[in-house]
Amino acid sequence: MKVNPNYQTKEQLVELYNKPLLELVFEAATIHRQYHNPREVQMSSLLSIKTGGCAEDCGYCPQAARYHTDVEAQKLMTVESVIEQAKNAKANGSSRLCMGAAWREVRDNKDFDNVIEMVQSVNDLGMEVCCTLGMMNEDQAKRLKNAGLFAYNHNLDTSPEFYGDVISTREYEDRLNTIDNARKAGITVCSGGIIGMGEAVEDRMGLLLSYMQMETPPESIPINALVAVEGTPLEDQKPIEQWEMIRMVASTRIVFPETVVRLSAGRTKMNMEAQALCFMAGAGSIFAGDKLLTTPNPDFNEDKEMFDILGLIPKEPFKDAEQPVTIPDEKIEARKANELQREKELEAARLEAIENGFVPRKVSSVDSL
Ligand code: SF4
Repeated sequence: MKVNPNYQTKEQLVELYNKPLLELVFEAATIHRQYHNPREVQMSSLLSIKTGGCAEDCGYCPQAARYHTDVEAQKLMTVESVIEQAKNAKANGSSRLCMGAAWREVRDNKDFDNVIEMVQSVNDLGMEVCCTLGMMNEDQAKRLKNAGLFAYNHNLDTSPEFYGDVISTREYEDRLNTIDNARKAGITVCSGGIIGMGEAVEDRMGLLLSYMQMETPPESIPINALVAVEGTPLEDQKPIEQWEMIRMVASTRIVFPETVVRLSAGRTKMNMEAQALCFMAGAGSIFAGDKLLTTPNPDFNEDKEMFDILGLIPKEPFKDAEQPVTIPDEKIEARKANELQREKELEAARLEAIENGFVPRKVSSVDSL
């Protein structure tokens, strides 16, 4: 992923962000047209596969267990219901499914085995699969890669300087390590930020600087506007001006010409005109569906209408990279073999009992009381 060589310092980035708005949009639009089809916008769906009850303290997040919000903690979804949701999303035009679990980190347990199965199944549907599961180590990243994971999302959120004002339960460095583990496993990286948390323009550009300093910058950078949720520490933050979102999208596009810039949370506060300027300035993706994990989002029909009016077309999956090949997962294969063996043993025992004259008793409703 390229970095624009004209921008190397935070001062240059801040100057870029503060350019007269239409000049900024023009520069971004020019670069966007050199590297991307400006009519194509990817529709992605974000599915919360495990909601709430998170041990972290991200100040913007209603899923943190310590904040008193309306979000109720739920268990991990079943593989079957994820497949059903993925099919719905695909039928509604989404070519990418991002599955989010409110975990501090990935643990090597049955839930992770299930996530591996979800990734395999959604990849088999021909969709780009992205996961956001918290911190993960290199082995876990390799399992996800083998399952067919296309992208791993792990946001840096903001600059290293402002980060401590929003999150205290894990370090910036931890986030960089997880991103590195995804990279080492050969998974593409989706990592972005949130604006409107009380940060300065320097922090917004500090976030971009962090990505510029990576050996390979992210293939995907989501730009979110804070959705201030009651009960979180950031509940009283004033909504940002739409112009700020446009500036952030345009600056990101200019600095990372090849990256997909995703117009993410906060679209419900933007009118169609402002969103149109974001597409003009290089946004190449939106999240479709009426929920973004737990916060509101425009529904499919509204977005379809917007696409028609603006002449946008949904981007097909895997236009930027090959579809990952799913390699059978040893742990899941072993578990399935064990389950099969156990079923065979039970059946054999049942047949043997019948041969020996045992007549299975019918269970009546009285018996079961
Ligand atoms: S953003 Fe993620 S890690 Fe932070 S509290 Fe929310 S669910 Fe947990």
